[in-house]
Amino acid sequence: MAEGGVWAVRGAEILVREGEDFAARAEPGSSLLSCRGLALPEPADRYALPPYAGRPELDGMALLYPEDAPAPNGWEWRPLRAAVMALPEDAWLPAARAMAFMRWREATRYCGRCGGRNQDKADEPARVCSACGALSFPRISPAVLAVVRRGDKLLLARNAASRLGFWSLIAGFVEPGERFEDCVRREVREEVGVDIRVDGYLGSQPWPFPDQLMIGFKASWASGELAPDGVEIAEAGWFGPDDHPPLPNPGSLSRRLIDAALADIAAGR
Ligand SMILES: [Zn+2]
Repeated sequence: MAEGGVWAVRGAEILVREGEDFAARAEPGSSLLSCRGLALPEPADRYALPPYAGRPELDGMALLYPEDAPAPNGWEWRPLRAAVMALPEDAWLPAARAMAFMRWREATRYCGRCGGRNQDKADEPARVCSACGALSFPRISPAVLAVVRRGDKLLLARNAASRLGFWSLIAGFVEPGERFEDCVRREVREEVGVDIRVDGYLGSQPWPFPDQLMIGFKASWASGELAPDGVEIAEAGWFGPDDHPPLPNPGSLSRRLIDAALADIAAGR
């Protein structure tokens, strides 16, 4: 078995020590979510992760288990989201990477063009169809987050489909033929009816539920009054650090960007 971590994946869950209290780990390392050394039953699929130049903590082996696979004694299946909410990003990214590769493999056992059986390509992380030769690469779905300021207020919106009731940034998937900046402007216009100016890039975060890459942008209100579309967005408003509604769970880029924007406003920036 290759050097590095061993990550066992079952759907959106990973195998961790039973009762693992992520938040109690003083110095969580990237090996926290690895089950290297554990005697595991034979997986449905195994994949030696492509070596990552300069970041050996990402290297290792990913194992895929079926939905009904039991956990070995002393271990349990837990949603990766639980780790995302409780751990620093660097501690969960290696497991997220392993999960993303395994879920991609699970979804591409057969060729999307002709239905033939896919095989691993030897020289790069891709699959190749044994019948027609079509290639499939790991799918990454870029989605933008819009940190829109109007003076000392931040735009937050409540998604109509959200069961949790929190308010967050306007977000949406990048469409074919679209630049990130176009996407930010379009999503804000579509969902809440205002025009904005995109001012710059703020950061990114892989989000393997199942394959998003979140990309944050700062923007300023230009014109128009809020008119939520009523379909995706139920409510929207401008908020300050002292009067904002419930925010998304910690761990996500959206929460980090909201916290930073509210801190900027509080500091008069
Ligand atoms: Zn094919």
